[in-house]
Amino acid sequence: MKLGKYSIGTGDRFSHQGQAQLRAIMHANKSGLDISPVWNKSNREHTYVHTVPQDTRNEADAAVAALGFKGKYFVDADHINLSNVAAFVDSSDFFTLDVASFIGKPSSESEVKAFVNSCHKYIGKLIIPGVKVPLLVTIELIEKVAGKFLAATQQAADIYNFLKKAKGEGNFITEVSMDEVETPQTPIELLFILKMLADKGVPAQTIAPKFTGRFNKGVDYKGDVDQFAKEFEEDVLVIDFAVKEFGLPAELKLSIHSGSDKFSIYPVMAAVIKKYDKGLHLKTAGTTWLEEVIGLAVAGGDGLEAAKYIYADSLNRSEELCGPYADVIEIDTTKLPTIEEVNSWSGEKYANTLRHIPGNPDYNANFRQLIHVAYKVAYEMGDKYIKMIEKHADVVGQCVEENIYDRHLKRLFNL
Ligand SMILES: [Zn+2]
Repeated sequence: MKLGKYSIGTGDRFSHQGQAQLRAIMHANKSGLDISPVWNKSNREHTYVHTVPQDTRNEADAAVAALGFKGKYFVDADHINLSNVAAFVDSSDFFTLDVASFIGKPSSESEVKAFVNSCHKYIGKLIIPGVKVPLLVTIELIEKVAGKFLAATQQAADIYNFLKKAKGEGNFITEVSMDEVETPQTPIELLFILKMLADKGVPAQTIAPKFTGRFNKGVDYKGDVDQFAKEFEEDVLVIDFAVKEFGLPAELKLSIHSGSDKFSIYPVMAAVIKKYDKGLHLKTAGTTWLEEVIGLAVAGGDGLEAAKYIYADSLNRSEELCGPYADVIEIDTTKLPTIEEVNSWSGEKYANTLRHIPGNPDYNANFRQLIHVAYKVAYEMGDKYIKMIEKHADVVGQCVEENIYDRHLKRLFNL
């Protein structure tokens, strides 16, 4: 099973927007692109909204059937590990092996030694075609990288081998993710991580490193765009080298766990993949849930009331809701409107505040991040919320589609 050159991961907390998400991708594909949709949902997300992996599969299959989509599509068990992968075996065909928590765990001296020995030919000035300055590789550096990543890549191999046995070789896509950590992996680290994966027989088709900068949920990139550009380009070149040198799958490409809406680095990524004619996998997680709330606000009446209730409850419980996301959000609480203020808003004002159009004077990134992490509130509304998004399915679906097409795919593929 092979992932296409371009793929977009979309998340859907409440499993109602599969068709709207697919419409956006089909719209882009009309321009001659062949983007594969990947519906991703992590174990954490399933736990919060009490869904099961099969729900995501059902949603994807139903959307594809309803719209007569003929391309490849996948269901991603996002950020899984050995303790929870089993529940995803039947319903997923794309697995994101999250090994971030194994970075820096010790490996045996003999393993480190064996890895260092296997890298002798790279010591000195290593030329990666396209990278301007040769990489300076020393024994100390290889030892350090081995100490940092051998256990993590071994963990990837353990999860992969479990899946190989459960699903059969070649019947699923393997992604390895290390993005949920503080420190970015450098291109030279990525090179040796890929060697480790190749040595251990993990046929990764996508790899998600931690990039420089902050990837806060649902808002734009925060960091040095030039530094990101340099790193991203070097990563692409390192992957190209690693595929040939270590015999990894020719499809291997970067996976960007964007946390959604990293608009300022989209042009950078677009330019690099175009320059080298490379593929890309982009995960855009919680954006769809925000579009549901925007849609409800735009719908007005009971929809707007529900959107206002969601904000009020989110603000009252902000500590509880933000807690699990503390590392990936930055909310300036002094810039959050009061409940009374929001209750006086029109649907348009509410939507403009939440919708990610940075130039709009009403846009408020603090408001947006709070709602982003507040989907538990909607979950607790239960049937009332579901009935609301079903009642206003047209306007909500339009918001979801427009968001993915206009604000994401257009920027990423120069449409
Ligand atoms: Zn991630």
